[in-house]
Amino acid sequence: MFQLSFVFKSDQRSYEHQFSYEMPDQNYYGDPVVFDEPAEVKTRFYKVQDTLFLDLQIAFSVEMKCARCLEPIRQEKTISKSFQLISQKLREEPSEDDLEEDVLYYEKEQLDLDNIVYEQILLEIPIKMVCDEKCRGICSQCGKPLNGESCLCEEATAEPETDPRLAKLKDWYQEE
Ligand SMILES: [Zn+2]
Ligand SMILES: [Zn+2]
Repeated sequence: MFQLSFVFKSDQRSYEHQFSYEMPDQNYYGDPVVFDEPAEVKTRFYKVQDTLFLDLQIAFSVEMKCARCLEPIRQEKTISKSFQLISQKLREEPSEDDLEEDVLYYEKEQLDLDNIVYEQILLEIPIKMVCDEKCRGICSQCGKPLNGESCLCEEATAEPETDPRLAKLKDWYQEE
């Protein structure tokens, strides 16, 4: 729990706080999503008149399997967001405004920063990642990855000879 009293008591216009956060590994439909290094978190609290704001920056790396070829891939990501902080005491009756993404509530001058970071990282992880937009995946017949040398079944399932009638049509279109 982060004590907001540091921020309230500080004479500075803003208060900065950095820490590392160990993101627990996740499981997406049976596929592991691994965080082998702690996320680096930078926070900056500041007041504008009586309103408290938080700038949050999270840098992390995530490893998961390519959705097509199943090879492990690693991505570096950075999240940069700003929030308005509101005391739970001042929270109005739940309304549609609660769906606002950029508001965080704190209780007893404490902010659950770990949980905030956890949720922000979860939101940032794609459901699927591909190693390369051109990734050709694996052969549906033998299961061999198709990005390097191709397997033998590929030749067998190569495009069938084009129907000569269609071939003529194709030529005709190309001449246009
Ligand atoms: Zn791939
Ligand atoms: Zn094959």
